[in-house]
Amino acid sequence: MCLGIPGQVVEIVDGFAGQLALVDVEGATRKVNIGMLDEAPDPGAWVLIHLGFAVELIDAQEASRAMSGLELVGQARRLRRRYTVSGLVQGVGFRPFAYASASALALSGSVANTADGVVVEVEGEADAVHEYGRRLRDDAPPLAMVLDVRTEELPLLGGTGFTIEASRDGGQARTLASPDVAICADCLRELRDPADRRYRHPFITCTNCGPRFTIITSLPYDRAATTMAGFPMCPACTAEYSDPANRRFHAQPIACPSCGPALELVLADATAHSSTAPQPGAASRPGAASRPGGDPVAECRRLLADGKIVAVKGLGGYHLACDARNPAAVAELRRRKRRGGKPFAVMVADVETARTLADLTEDDERLLTDIRRPVVLVPRRAGEDIADEVAPDNPDLGVLLPYTPLHVLLFGLPGDPAGPDALVMTSGNLSGEPIVTGDDEAVERLAPMADAWLRHDRAIRVPCDDSVSRQVAGVELPVRRSRGHAPLPLALPFEVPPMLAAGADLKNTCAVASGRYAWLSQHIGDMDDLSTVEALGKTEKHLEELTGVRPEIVVADLHPGYRSTEWARRHADGRTVKRVQHHHAHVASVMAEHGLGVDERVIGIAFDGTGYGPDGAVWGGEMLIAGYPDYTRAARLGYVPLAGGDASVLRPYRMALAHLYAAGVPWHPDLPAVAACPPAERDLLARQFGSGAGCVPTSSMGRLFDAVSALCGVRQTVEYEAEAAIVLEGQARSASAGLHHPYALELCPSQDGPDVADAGPLIRQIAREVLDGVPAPMVAARFHATVAALIVLLAERGREMTGLDVVALGGGVFQNALLLAAAVPALAERGFTVLRPRLLPPNDGGIALGQLMVGSF
Ligand SMILES: [Zn+2]
Ligand SMILES: [Zn+2]
Repeated sequence: MCLGIPGQVVEIVDGFAGQLALVDVEGATRKVNIGMLDEAPDPGAWVLIHLGFAVELIDAQEASRAMSGLELVGQARRLRRRYTVSGLVQGVGFRPFAYASASALALSGSVANTADGVVVEVEGEADAVHEYGRRLRDDAPPLAMVLDVRTEELPLLGGTGFTIEASRDGGQARTLASPDVAICADCLRELRDPADRRYRHPFITCTNCGPRFTIITSLPYDRAATTMAGFPMCPACTAEYSDPANRRFHAQPIACPSCGPALELVLADATAHSSTAPQPGAASRPGAASRPGGDPVAECRRLLADGKIVAVKGLGGYHLACDARNPAAVAELRRRKRRGGKPFAVMVADVETARTLADLTEDDERLLTDIRRPVVLVPRRAGEDIADEVAPDNPDLGVLLPYTPLHVLLFGLPGDPAGPDALVMTSGNLSGEPIVTGDDEAVERLAPMADAWLRHDRAIRVPCDDSVSRQVAGVELPVRRSRGHAPLPLALPFEVPPMLAAGADLKNTCAVASGRYAWLSQHIGDMDDLSTVEALGKTEKHLEELTGVRPEIVVADLHPGYRSTEWARRHADGRTVKRVQHHHAHVASVMAEHGLGVDERVIGIAFDGTGYGPDGAVWGGEMLIAGYPDYTRAARLGYVPLAGGDASVLRPYRMALAHLYAAGVPWHPDLPAVAACPPAERDLLARQFGSGAGCVPTSSMGRLFDAVSALCGVRQTVEYEAEAAIVLEGQARSASAGLHHPYALELCPSQDGPDVADAGPLIRQIAREVLDGVPAPMVAARFHATVAALIVLLAERGREMTGLDVVALGGGVFQNALLLAAAVPALAERGFTVLRPRLLPPNDGGIALGQLMVGSF
């Protein structure tokens, strides 16, 4: 019997007396004789083919029935196809997924990691092969990010079974490495289960969780290319690794108590006095006893409960930990770390504990429990008993949940003696230096700070600080994009040549890009420290290794004195170094993360602390009408004299005096800012402002926040940039809810330059109110309302000038949740489309993307 093969007519073709048609049979087009049909079929019609003749006209339903009939008797067409999958497909369980899908569809073939991603070859029934392609695209594992699937038809090879092949390298690495992922629910369950062989195993992990970015030494991703290479799997782990039905199938970092890394606790007095002090590379080998006397984790918890400070080795570096409810311990950590007033993050045992510390919204909880586990800034709850020293005068608390199995154990399992349920977890470093990753380095550099080290022998390949984020008006506002994000790519709105951007000097991150993707590095730090500049070099090199991008263009900030710019120049090696204005880069970053096209323009409002302007002034309160290739400065804050750069950043009272001077307000000794300035300094400032000597004009919005903070007596000196503004925001949030009347701040058009928003009237009003005894929270709230109103005013003016109605908000000032939450709806109400930073921080940590976009022209 013959069933005939269904095919669909493409067109009638010349030849054989007009009796030939091109017919599509399952993707293959063949010439078929139609002479047996009563009349020529129309294109699109279905025919049944037998021995090269169309024997019957049928409909689509019959065609499908005929095909299933063929499949039943095994005559359906078989295919062999190669799928090349690119994107984030290594280290995320993609090969096990490819294997399981092939088994489910009865396909034979193989899968391998290559430098291009994952290559799968499958052979079997056509429908199954098609369905397989769909699954690769649509059903990939949760951590995977499929960017592209290329298809190639191959000759049939036959064969049965599906194999996972060893990785093939060669070619330029173009695949993506996965970020580190917090411990998953399955691993957590096993960790707590006394019957499980990984009960209390601090390195428990599976295909869906665990370290990735921080342990990958090279690509393609395989155990041998991670810092787990030195830990051969035991037979039990090998069995799990090799079993396609197991959730640890081909999970590279897996281990167990008998084959994995080992923990040890080292006491400071031991390192100082004992001959058993850790030697370079002396961390225990697998199986070796850790510190004699028992469980290092239990002992560590006892130390923490005792108020001690312990350096705990994490995913991307060492943390310094202490009991967050113990004021003496936190104060001591702050003193040893020379941290100033900068807030510490607090890791709590679980969401329930977090709820007792902060007023969490559903959005906050979603962010807290996200697989990236960032530090989430949340409003402190009244009456909680976290030590004041954790975040002095700060309205928010940075809270995070445990993200490694070791963290979970640190908080104790059921039955353990009680220990702290909230731990300060701050980067293991001296303020300003990069986070410590090496074990010897940790003993040496953290010795002045730690009473003990809880460490292990799984090496950290690259440093990666915790990410910091928050929710503002229902949308995420990243503050620092690092662990859990790096090295995920960002999709670009248009193609760019291979490029490198050096970032800026504060909160530095660098970035590489090529084609339609950009990769931002993890947080590197402030470039005022030599070791941070070195870290930039190492980070950039690692990023090139992971992405295969070989930059042909280097981009840096316009600032001639930036260390990042100097670094770019030194590393240019003959390549072009393009320089991009700071606030143009801020605006371009926001445009790019929102996918704006190559020709689009926006009303860019860039408010931040410091950025070099081409006129030599310090910019920072700017409205730029901007596209990627260029911008026009359409409005700015009025210039005031900035005397002695850094001195005025760290002493906000100097900015208050500068603004008073510019506004023509006498320095009344009852004004707190005037009182805070020593008389000699006051005299010097008066002379400097009068003559302009040693002064640079500035339009910085960040400095205006500083000035107001000092004017109303909130902060006269600070230990880190933006501290005065953060405390001022806290004051404003403590004012009675509701609308606060803005101060006067007008926009004055000018003939031959940008419009000017003169802060004079605002400063005069505030000075009067402060002298009249209006409380600081009220002044702060009115000031925030004023800046929000200014944003609207600028946008309206920008629309009037250009007809544009898309506003991009960028710059560190937009980390201010109160301001952002006020400005966004006010703009939307007036018909503006508001682009706010949501993937990258508004601060300088997100600027490298904008540098790339602008630098590509
Ligand atoms: Zn897991
Ligand atoms: Zn094992």
